[in-house]
Amino acid sequence: MFYHSTRDAGDSVTSKQAILTGIAPDGGLYVSDQLGASRLDLGRVCAQGYHATACDVLGTLLPDYTADEVRSCVAGAYADNFDTPAVTPLTPLGQDWLLELWHGPTCAFKDVALQMLPRLMSVARASEGTAGGVMIVTATSGDTGKAALDGFADVPGTGVTVFYPAGKVSDVQRLQMVTQRGANVAVAGIRGTFDDAQTQVKRIFANQALAERLAARGVVLSSANSINVGRLVPQVTYYFDAYAQLVKAGRVAAGDPVDFCVPTGNFGDVLAGYYAKRLGLPVGTLIVASNTNKVLTDFIETGTYDRRRDFVKTISPSMDILVSSNLERLLYYLTDGDCEQVASWMGQLSATGTYTLPSHLMDRMRETFACGFATDDQTRATIRSAWDDHGVLIDPHTAVGACVLGRLPHEGRERVCLSTANPYKFSADVLAALGHDVDGLDGFACMDQLERLTGVPAPRQLSALRTAEVRHPDVCDQDEMLGFVESACARVFA
Ligand SMILES: *Cc1c(COP(=O)(O)O)cnc(C)c1O
Repeated sequence: MFYHSTRDAGDSVTSKQAILTGIAPDGGLYVSDQLGASRLDLGRVCAQGYHATACDVLGTLLPDYTADEVRSCVAGAYADNFDTPAVTPLTPLGQDWLLELWHGPTCAFKDVALQMLPRLMSVARASEGTAGGVMIVTATSGDTGKAALDGFADVPGTGVTVFYPAGKVSDVQRLQMVTQRGANVAVAGIRGTFDDAQTQVKRIFANQALAERLAARGVVLSSANSINVGRLVPQVTYYFDAYAQLVKAGRVAAGDPVDFCVPTGNFGDVLAGYYAKRLGLPVGTLIVASNTNKVLTDFIETGTYDRRRDFVKTISPSMDILVSSNLERLLYYLTDGDCEQVASWMGQLSATGTYTLPSHLMDRMRETFACGFATDDQTRATIRSAWDDHGVLIDPHTAVGACVLGRLPHEGRERVCLSTANPYKFSADVLAALGHDVDGLDGFACMDQLERLTGVPAPRQLSALRTAEVRHPDVCDQDEMLGFVESACARVFA
């Protein structure tokens, strides 16, 4: 199975090379034309556990990794760093299900991929004979940054630089990042939004002069954003495993369709559901749930992607995104691999901020994808009703999904809402949603009060942040980011 850019099928690379480089040299995303050519055995998946299914998924999508390499990556990524052997347990929410993806070390779903990616990269470096270092450069809307820092901290031969939008992440999210330990990590806030940070990071990757200066010290840059195939592939596993959990619980018979509702930002998580479908999972509808930055809802409804709108800061900050990078991969598959067309839309997006798909392609997309959005008020009301009616405490991102799902008619299918963060990452907003006055309370006071109120314990790694030392106080302008990366490379790979 070979990968090539969504914008040009000319040069193929192995999955190891795709994982090492992150993004294709022309700015496209790596895709494979063999997606779905070999499918997973559903009967087998329904009878086995998380690790075995992860091995099947990785083995299928990353076939140049040997079975032994895959097994050791899986065993290392999902061990006692997750607080439950189920890794991603399914729990009831009324008539529907929550797929809890936040049992990893940083309490957000990104751990599922980012505890794996450094292992995939280390194996790839060894077999590609890459002697030099890899500097991971990542823009984060809040959760990716910490998950990348935790995954890559002190991994030999790697460094990690994270940029987050200063003032636009929660207290706990910021502290998780600025207190990160490790000799190979660098963190800075930037003055701007997540989209600004992501745009600059893409420019840094495309900067040839920088690449040459770094190559002179044996350093290459790579990405831990969800544009990296090594992020996307591990996320496919939990769709299969969720289905297996439903079968084991007697809720569905193997073959019955199941709907998934996915709180979405960069379109990575929901795209993994589409990959699962292509690999043979009976996925009914994939529901794309957005917050007030509803660029995807508008796109799915109208066929026009239009980022020319005001960015809104919401209580689900990890979904405050106007450019959903991974949508480019779906466009590739929707057009049956028309690179020229994809490149043209992406060109229009960067030049004018918008592009429009023809209606037959939108019809095709709507066969699998539905959409909806939730305002902050609706999100709060959903947090409150989940607690009042079902005794389940959910975070604002999960609540966006639950709100959108709750509005859709049930139609007798089992439905799974992906639960993407532990509620204590967003204690202040959750406490306020439950009707409590949070004025003047800091993140930790909110955490304490939420614990007292609900009896649900806060994760240790979050409550311990109150006494952790701040190691990365830097905040910089967007035009200083390149220099920040370069000096981090000089320090880490001295
Ligand atoms: C990143 C994130 C999302 C959005 O996931 P995408 O893959 O970017 O669509 C949703 N919820 C939380 C908590 C996240 O951290």
